[in-house]
Amino acid sequence: MAPNDKMRMTKQRRLILDELRSQNTHPTADIIYEKVRRKMPKISLGTVYRNLEILTAVGEIQTLELSGTQKRYDGIANKHYHIRCLHCGRVDDAPIAPLQRLEDELYESTVYTIMGHRLEFMGLCPECSRDQNARQAAEKAIAAAQEAVS
Ligand SMILES: [Zn+2]
Ligand SMILES: [Zn+2]
Repeated sequence: MAPNDKMRMTKQRRLILDELRSQNTHPTADIIYEKVRRKMPKISLGTVYRNLEILTAVGEIQTLELSGTQKRYDGIANKHYHIRCLHCGRVDDAPIAPLQRLEDELYESTVYTIMGHRLEFMGLCPECSRDQNARQAAEKAIAAAQEAVS
């Protein structure tokens, strides 16, 4: 990353940031690209990726690596947890404060230097909760995952 990238908010970067912050849907790069392209038809997917990386590096946004899904991007830079729908993949913010106490407790009992933690909640979004097939599929997936670890 060139030193200037830190300071310079290009038109493209501003547009990507505005898009991310306008709706809190934690989109993938592909989705952001589709939206930004409507306003800036010449932008490339590579440019979108590069700007997402830079915005993450300077702390304006977060790159989310949730289990089993494509990378998603979050316009909220503060640490927070997420809930992921097991059926459709929708991701929402979990309305609870980060559990600093977890790290404090672990600090006492490990030889590791703890730098952070990831915690992800899984469930069914309101639409999928109403769908009987979605419920069954999700219950099966959870049962299979628990079998695998026990
Ligand atoms: Zn869902
Ligand atoms: Zn979020």
